[in-house]
Amino acid sequence: MILRYDLSQDEIPTNWYNILPDLPEPLPQPQDPTGKSFGVLKQALPSKDLENEFSTQRYIKIPDEVIERYLQVGRPTPIIRAKKLEEYLGGYIKIYMKMESHTYTGSHKINSAIPHVYYATLDNAKFVSTETGAGQWGSAVALASALFKMKAYVFMVRTSYFAKPYRKYMIEMYGAEIHPSPSDFTEYGKKILEKDPNNPGSLGIAITDAITYALNNGGKYLVGSVVNSDILYKTIAGQEAKIQMEKIGEDPDYIIGVVGGGSNYAALAYPFLGDELRSGKIRRKYIASGSLEVPKMTKGVYRYDYPDTGKVLPMLKMYTIGYDFIPPAVYAGGLRYHAVAPSLSLLMNKGIVESRDYSQEEAFKWARIFSEIEGWIPAPETSHALPILKEIADNAKKEGEEKTVLVSFSGHGLLDLGNYADVLGFK
Ligand SMILES: *Cc1c(COP(=O)(O)O)cnc(C)c1O
Repeated sequence: MILRYDLSQDEIPTNWYNILPDLPEPLPQPQDPTGKSFGVLKQALPSKDLENEFSTQRYIKIPDEVIERYLQVGRPTPIIRAKKLEEYLGGYIKIYMKMESHTYTGSHKINSAIPHVYYATLDNAKFVSTETGAGQWGSAVALASALFKMKAYVFMVRTSYFAKPYRKYMIEMYGAEIHPSPSDFTEYGKKILEKDPNNPGSLGIAITDAITYALNNGGKYLVGSVVNSDILYKTIAGQEAKIQMEKIGEDPDYIIGVVGGGSNYAALAYPFLGDELRSGKIRRKYIASGSLEVPKMTKGVYRYDYPDTGKVLPMLKMYTIGYDFIPPAVYAGGLRYHAVAPSLSLLMNKGIVESRDYSQEEAFKWARIFSEIEGWIPAPETSHALPILKEIADNAKKEGEEKTVLVSFSGHGLLDLGNYADVLGFK
């Protein structure tokens, strides 16, 4: 019996996959109603990121410097067969999980942090800056920066900074400088704190903190989801998975995952979906889920909206519940974002990708079942994909037909045990 499928390091793919040329229709372009956003982006982003954002080239070569770091931090990641979960669900589905939890920072986020930082070095940036909520993205940027000897500033949402110290410690362990946001370290943060010294912060505020700090001080700002270039870099996971599934001799009927901004799901699904889009025939089912507490997947509206509360960035056409939506204190911090990546939104709008939202209670119940029977603790975010498996298994049973599912296992939950304890009532 084989439960784990590895690629050797010399089998790592050398191209990222760009879905833009294969989309059923052109992606709606960003809009700049304030007339300032495009200029800000041009100055704030690594120039290669901006070029890749609009590239129509289907495959983009991964620089050797990036491949070298991918190999260092745990790539290629394994695919694991969740045999015990299959049995638990009645035996009608085969479950293959792409384990992005097996990278050094414990999630898929390092896959794009490495190239973003690399491209900042090509611009001779003095430093990179970024925002982080619960800290997954911040820790990935901190490690990527350490690997390129680049200075990094991370602005962490103030409430998380004080409530969730472990990813903060991780960021410091990697040598990055971390500030609570809003902070008196930036002009923008100072202004907010003068008016409201107890401001808890938000991702939107932290984005503005990070961008303005980069703009004013010769740094580059890094975007950790949603945009085309970030998804492009993360397709290393899907590119690997395609080779792995071929070697296993399985063609998934379903590809599923969770959506914060949409990057880990898109990164796994797009290389598979691209083949189908080009052939003109879509056989597989693509299902992505979010959090019912931030229900953009099922209640979002497909329209132009701001990616950030500060309205610094240009408007994008996407499924959104509004840039000013204030999410409840959901523990799956990575699912708090108010909108879905433009490319994934277009595919949802065309009916090619289906969507679900699950409550935290439901997701965490499955996280516990999964931990007990499979032995590996999923991230709170990742656990929101597990109810989809139940749905697929029940349908397969009804139809009496075996189905194969590929899951984006976006991260592990070993730094989120406090969240599980709170919700599941551990004493
Ligand atoms: C950040 C995060 C997500 C959500 O972000 P996407 O951009 O949608 O991938 C999902 N899972 C984990 C473990 C995360 O850290």
